[in-house]
Amino acid sequence: MPEHIPFNWPHMTGKELYYIAEAHFNGKLAGDGPYTKRCHHRLEKLSGCLKALLTHSCTAALEMQALLLDIRPGDEVIMPSYTFVSTANAVVLRGGVPVFVDIREDTLNIDEGLIEDAVTPRTRAIAPVHYAGVGCEMDAIMEIAQRRGLKVVEDAAQGFMSTYKGRALGSIGHLGAYSFHETKNVISGEGGALLVNDPDLVQRAEIIREKGTDRSRFFRGEVDKYTWQEAGSSYLPGELIAAFLWAQLEEAGEITENRIARWRRYHEMLEPLEKEGLLRRPVIPAHCLHNAHMYYVLLAPDIDRQPVLDELKKQGIYAVFHYVPLHSAPAGRRYGRAHGAMSRTDNLSVRLIRLPLWHGLPRAAQERTVESLYTALHR
Ligand SMILES: *Cc1c(COP(=O)(O)O)cnc(C)c1O
Repeated sequence: MPEHIPFNWPHMTGKELYYIAEAHFNGKLAGDGPYTKRCHHRLEKLSGCLKALLTHSCTAALEMQALLLDIRPGDEVIMPSYTFVSTANAVVLRGGVPVFVDIREDTLNIDEGLIEDAVTPRTRAIAPVHYAGVGCEMDAIMEIAQRRGLKVVEDAAQGFMSTYKGRALGSIGHLGAYSFHETKNVISGEGGALLVNDPDLVQRAEIIREKGTDRSRFFRGEVDKYTWQEAGSSYLPGELIAAFLWAQLEEAGEITENRIARWRRYHEMLEPLEKEGLLRRPVIPAHCLHNAHMYYVLLAPDIDRQPVLDELKKQGIYAVFHYVPLHSAPAGRRYGRAHGAMSRTDNLSVRLIRLPLWHGLPRAAQERTVESLYTALHR
């Protein structure tokens, strides 16, 4: 058996346990302690968002977005079908309807040119997902939203440290969300953040996150007692998670650079296979700086994906694919609806392979991955 190359290998900076020990020693373990506040400031500084709030996960932050927009039964939110389930679940849990539109051929992001035609009197928001940490066409999306009176909620789960025309992903729409799940770039095991950019939503965001109470204002001394203000839940992580995340946030720049170097290596190594017409490499628009969250290839349309994955696995290389488009999944058909043809979503999603990419991935492992892919594609 050849040595395994895992798909993901969570990167630890080495300071996580030190900060956790300090939080332990401080004896402040509930949420919104010193480490959480430090993380909030750092996220605000790095993204330029108005207000960052740590959550248990990006899924939780997306649910907060739906609560903040007061999504009601029958309300519609326009989103790509090619995304993770959490983008749609957040809407469905409020009784809302995800309306799926097709993606762009180049970035696999929502096709902004199809959004306006999907708007109905029930449409409340647009939910762009920045696939692979590469920005959606936010200028066009914000313009449609403004003209049609809609909110924009960014799923920037994969987009921490990426920019669109110089602005951080997650800081452009009314609300944004990051993920710090173990499979993302900057991690805390499970974890996420809600980004609030619309000043009118800041206070309610704090309330919804604190079980529907104004406890955050109470702790700041702005009110003399805290009371139940509206429907909310508990979305704040404890300090141990924040302490772990703080170690990662301190090195967010280095973590991103390390991944970008490996992303570029793949990109160079795979150019000959693209020239042969056997696959297509990712396309990064000139106005988007990305965080190298993912390296994927799109196999030529006439190549069967499964034998390629099998061959890689036989060589000990764990490459994966995702997503089954939501419009074709059982829950997507039950709760959502597709607007227009989904041909690019259907065609591209079955051709995609994600290659192992992680902080510190050795050059030799990348060479082996590319060689195995070469062999599989020349079968
Ligand atoms: C990872 C991911 C999520 C979910 O993030 P969690 O922190 O695991 O809840 C949501 N949307 C997209 C696009 C993701 O990639």
